[in-house]
Amino acid sequence: MNLHEYQAKELFRAHQIPVPRGILARTPGEALAACEALGGSRWVIKAQVYSGGRGKAGGVVVANRAEEVSGAADRLLGRRLVTYQSGAEGLPVESLLVEEPTEIARELYLSLLVERASERYLFMASASGGMDIERVAAEMPERILLVRVHPAVGLQPYQVRRLGFGLGLEGGQIKALGGLMEGLYRLFNDSDASLVEINPLVVTAAGDLVALDAKVNLDDNALYRQRRLAELRDPTQEDSREAEARMHDLNYISLDGNIGCMVNGAGLAMATMDLVKLHGGAPANFLDVGGGATAARVAEAFKLILSDPKVEAVLVNIFGGIVRCDLIAEGIIQAVREVRVGVPVVVRLEGTNAEQGLRMLAESGLPVATASSLGEAADKAVAAASRGLASAEGVA
Ligand code: GDP
Ligand code: MN
Repeated sequence: MNLHEYQAKELFRAHQIPVPRGILARTPGEALAACEALGGSRWVIKAQVYSGGRGKAGGVVVANRAEEVSGAADRLLGRRLVTYQSGAEGLPVESLLVEEPTEIARELYLSLLVERASERYLFMASASGGMDIERVAAEMPERILLVRVHPAVGLQPYQVRRLGFGLGLEGGQIKALGGLMEGLYRLFNDSDASLVEINPLVVTAAGDLVALDAKVNLDDNALYRQRRLAELRDPTQEDSREAEARMHDLNYISLDGNIGCMVNGAGLAMATMDLVKLHGGAPANFLDVGGGATAARVAEAFKLILSDPKVEAVLVNIFGGIVRCDLIAEGIIQAVREVRVGVPVVVRLEGTNAEQGLRMLAESGLPVATASSLGEAADKAVAAASRGLASAEGVA
């Protein structure tokens, strides 16, 4: 789960990580009132969306006059902001963070995450902040500094100094960096985060360190014990199908392809996506209906897959270990009737009562193709989807 920048900055504040003063605004009037309350004659207006890259997309505006504030608020609020991370549809802007301006001398990068391979916390830092860090990592990997922290030992002063000197900081700035990294480390643990990122962390004209941007990703598996943070979720910023799936306890991720996949078991779902790719197709989603798939869950999963207009064929791949394939077949038949599936469906059943299940599907009279192997199923689904595409193109 993500947090908005203003929420992340509240967490920063609570952990003594310096951030600019700011006020959240939901209307142009509130934005003007926020400027008044902050005082001064310049303000920074920042669109609150679950995405970075807002600066380049026009979502961060430095305003020198009140008219510019209302102009920016009018232009941003109620619109969708398209960034290089958001996808072509963009994300809805429903609130703005109005901040006092910061005089920037240098833009640094600092983040904290879990590095699974080394089983350590990993601080990443770079003197090339402000820009896309993936690009820095790809083009100038030597500009990325890494510090690994053992969870039983904690952050050590020498590690702070190493990063500090590597970033070109001096004197009191190293001490400030130490406080900031300690704060980041506590925040990370206290909130069960999976990533905390400050890009840019700025050195101000006065030489202070300030977190100008704030990104926090929370570990979904720990949300049950992070009630207050879990309540901050903003469904308007999330993929609507993924939100719907969460309500039904289905493990669903939207992807770009045109073949809807319904599978029981995460490993099998991954293998299915690989097979689709291998046969020249592209999956429209990852979906694990779970080990104890019931007819009702299968129906929900079908509805979810078919609510995606990109889907041109559905591939169902069920392994009947705990579940019986005849029950799954019943669920599929019920779902296909109920949901009125308008695209080709290919089903591969394997395991307990598979033959019975396949026979039921064949005798149902529904336009459901069956396959006995996963390879054959993938092949049929890819062919069905491309036929659909060909006929659609024929019409156009
Ligand atoms: P992002 O583009 O979504 O990552 O949004 P950021 O919060 O990182 O802001 C993008 C850029 O806007 C920063 O890298 C800064 O260069 C600029 N910016 C943001 N706040 C201020 C500010 O207070 N003063 C100045 N001069 N620039 C700012
Ligand atoms: Mn940023």
